[in-house]
Amino acid sequence: MQRRDFIKHTLLATGAVALENCQPKDPYAPRKYEGQIAIIGAGAAGLYAGYLLEQQGANYTIYEAAEQIGGRIRPLKGLADFEVELGAEKIRGSRSTLYDWAKESGASLLPTSGTDYYQIGTLLRTEAQWNTDLDFRLAMLLSQQARAYSGNETTLAQLMETTKLVAKVRHIPDALIANNYGTSASRLGLLGVAEAEATWSAGRDNYLLGNRSLLSLLEEKCKNVIPKVVLNKQIKRIDFTNSPIVLEDAQAQRRFADKVIVTVPLSILQANDIQFTPSLPEAKLTAIRNIGMGAGIKVALVFNRRFWEANTGSIYTSGSVPEYWVSSAGRSTSSFVLSGFVTGERAEVLSGQTSTVIIQNLLKELDTIYGKGTATAALTNAKVMDWGKEPFIKGAYSFPIPNGGGLLTRQTLSQPIQRKVYFAGEATHYGGHSGTVHGAMESGRRAVEELLRDVV
Ligand SMILES: Cc1cc2nc3c(=O)[nH]c(=O)nc-3n(C[C@H](O)[C@H](O)[C@H](O)COP(=O)(O)OP(=O)(O)OC[C@H]3O[C@@H](n4cnc5c(N)ncnc54)[C@H](O)[C@@H]3O)c2cc1C
Repeated sequence: MQRRDFIKHTLLATGAVALENCQPKDPYAPRKYEGQIAIIGAGAAGLYAGYLLEQQGANYTIYEAAEQIGGRIRPLKGLADFEVELGAEKIRGSRSTLYDWAKESGASLLPTSGTDYYQIGTLLRTEAQWNTDLDFRLAMLLSQQARAYSGNETTLAQLMETTKLVAKVRHIPDALIANNYGTSASRLGLLGVAEAEATWSAGRDNYLLGNRSLLSLLEEKCKNVIPKVVLNKQIKRIDFTNSPIVLEDAQAQRRFADKVIVTVPLSILQANDIQFTPSLPEAKLTAIRNIGMGAGIKVALVFNRRFWEANTGSIYTSGSVPEYWVSSAGRSTSSFVLSGFVTGERAEVLSGQTSTVIIQNLLKELDTIYGKGTATAALTNAKVMDWGKEPFIKGAYSFPIPNGGGLLTRQTLSQPIQRKVYFAGEATHYGGHSGTVHGAMESGRRAVEELLRDVV
């Protein structure tokens, strides 16, 4: 489908085009939904659902447990001379509303096009430089095969074992595939990975916003939605036995709604932090268990000089943090920032340490790569963001577990209940875009479409 057709189709599906264009007396015009809609969570999914409902003139309120909007999008001012993203940072692909919004807003979109460096032992080299090393080439080949895996279910770790990939390069597929998917090699189901890769349709290029944060972009586009957000309002119970639906918050205060869109992270559902009455259907409970979500830490290290090669894109290490990238590239000429991202088992280990210890150890690891004391001496500021410790997030993002049932399981997770309770959020995306901001937004759109379809 052409991009323009896709947008038109989407607008039609949400009723937006029909509503805008219809004459007042058009007998076929979709009716405006007059009921009260509650959205739980003001992350990308919840805000975009609000944006679409706002266009419909619908009555909605967004309840957000935290003291700020954005969820897993959280920029930090003051650490460097630009806003450092502690959560989502890259716009993944160019075929999404998120990308279009960035374009429309005039933001500078910086393609993440640098050269990647890989550590083996104490040496750091580019792919071209390592290419004479057979083990490196096998690690890269296996990473490629993992993305298109078919056969009996296996984890990435099992695949490395059965193909006898040598230990000194196993961190490479682990970083390129497992960490990228939000977990470690031993926990990632490759059938789910292959399915997600095959259905991914957003394009393969990644972009950083050069001159603004992701949150400021959402704030600009959702400026009419933000007044409808009630902060510090953790919803603890959703009773949809009767109409209206009763929502109870952490202070036992009650709110009422005719329809609810739940956008909280999968981990919040897994932890039973929201009690549903009647309880969720067995199929949905099984789906909640059959998708993974675990520890995730992002570390921002701010230096007073650049000690890495000027062309550096990502640095894949064999240490505690599988991947660093240069967050300051194109954004600053005086703050030099490496962002590190670690999930799964390694994130669990780091999570047991203090920020000071984590930073000291990461600097030591970078010093072994770049020369004694180099990174340590250049550090001016640092921040460790442990998403597993965030009470209303509890992890990084969802990933396919072995034998988890893949996209069908995500579809089951997304199923509305009794035309009253709808589900959005990145984990409910069953078109391959889970674990992303634009995927979260698309899930919000799907939930709004389902809700409006039930009304007409
Ligand atoms: C470190 C990190 C890096 C990432 N990098 C990228 C990237 O570069 N590019 C990309 O596309 N994606 C990235 N992602 C993934 C992306 O951030 C998420 O997929 C997306 O932001 C999820 O949006 P969401 O609306 O589904 O969930 P969330 O953003 O988690 O929003 C859910 C909201 O629900 C709230 N909530 C929870 N419980 C309750 C309750 N009981 N009552 C009321 N509110 C509640 C939460 O506080 C939260 O605000 C990254 C994620 C992490 C953690």
